[in-house]
Amino acid sequence: MKEFDYVIIGGGCAGLSLAYELEIHKKLKDKTLAIIEPRTEYKKDKTWSFWKVVNHNFNDCVKKSWENFTINIPKNTNHLQCTNYPYQSVDSELFYEKINNKLKENKNISFFKNISEINSKNSFIFNSVPSIKKDYRNLWQHFCGVEIETQNNFFDDEIFNLMDFNCDQRESVHFFYTLPYSKTKALVETTWLSKMNDNSQKDYDNQIKDYIENHLNLKDYKITYKEEGAIPLFYPKYEKTINKINIGTAGGMTRLSTGYTFLNIQEHSKYICKNIENISKTKKFEISKKYQFLDDIFLRVLSENPKMMPNIFFKMFKSSPKTVIKFLSNKSNFLEDLSIILKMPKWTFVKALFN
Ligand SMILES: Cc1cc2nc3c(=O)[nH]c(=O)nc-3n(C[C@H](O)[C@H](O)[C@H](O)COP(=O)(O)OP(=O)(O)OC[C@H]3O[C@@H](n4cnc5c(N)ncnc54)[C@H](O)[C@@H]3O)c2cc1C
Repeated sequence: MKEFDYVIIGGGCAGLSLAYELEIHKKLKDKTLAIIEPRTEYKKDKTWSFWKVVNHNFNDCVKKSWENFTINIPKNTNHLQCTNYPYQSVDSELFYEKINNKLKENKNISFFKNISEINSKNSFIFNSVPSIKKDYRNLWQHFCGVEIETQNNFFDDEIFNLMDFNCDQRESVHFFYTLPYSKTKALVETTWLSKMNDNSQKDYDNQIKDYIENHLNLKDYKITYKEEGAIPLFYPKYEKTINKINIGTAGGMTRLSTGYTFLNIQEHSKYICKNIENISKTKKFEISKKYQFLDDIFLRVLSENPKMMPNIFFKMFKSSPKTVIKFLSNKSNFLEDLSIILKMPKWTFVKALFN
């Protein structure tokens, strides 16, 4: 069986981002790479959105970028600007196509469906398949989104809605999210932050239909695409081994308070590429301990006080949008952290800290 210098397990967002980064920096000129990916074809399965706080390789896969957004709680809407850090949506279909076309050019890169097809004993392994046991103690961000098209102009495509909490909360945290790609096209998503132990929350189709028809007041539309997923708001098990690094969700690249992962994956790929020659001795890349600590308290508050969360998120965005965006994207400094922390209900957070 063939041996490879590097093996990437999982050719999804993290696996392909890393392979692309290595390829464009010519790190695979004299090295071989096997990508293990069971899927038989790549098609659009996700829309990755984030505030662009750092550069990434996929500007040409950005479907739409916005500089204005809103956040709503019942009877209150906050209009905000994000000119410094536009919010971008990357289309996974364009992303997969761009990367796979590039990787095809290098004959040192091979794809396999199963790791048993190669000899990986002496390879350095980048693993993006998380080890997650489903139990009802952990929090998840679970959601379903549809892309819809209308006959006539309906949406204001200059402004997106980050969170609309004006909806049924069912003892959890629930909001809708709307990304208008054009005046006639938008992604509408129902999002829950919960332990996934209430099956009624997974009645996504009805929730979306009700929201579009009775909240947005749009009756005439067609659904052109649907995506569904669940992001763990906890770190998957990470085994420390000398010849293996976990990447992507498996590698702890999700910011637990938000579910944002895409840009962290891009930064991790750049870090690995920069250190590839000495990778087994390189320090582990992780989301800073400061955010791990703050997110842990935040999620404890969320778990214990779901009813308070719409107001907490709303209040958070009373700080300058630039500050909140930097905070949510792991780029804030001490004073910016403080300005967010001071907006939080102090007693609730102090109690969570000692629980
Ligand atoms: C629907 C959806 C929307 C999301 N939207 C956003 C967003 O807007 N912004 C954001 O920042 N994050 C978002 N995320 C979170 C995160 O960015 C994505 O989950 C991202 O795809 C994580 O990348 P990954 O490589 O870790 O996992 P994946 O992209 O899921 O890649 C894992 C790969 O491993 C393969 N695989 C599975 N089993 C095996 C096996 N046994 N052996 C080998 N390969 C295997 C899978 O087929 C897959 O291709 C979203 C997640 C989902 C599910």
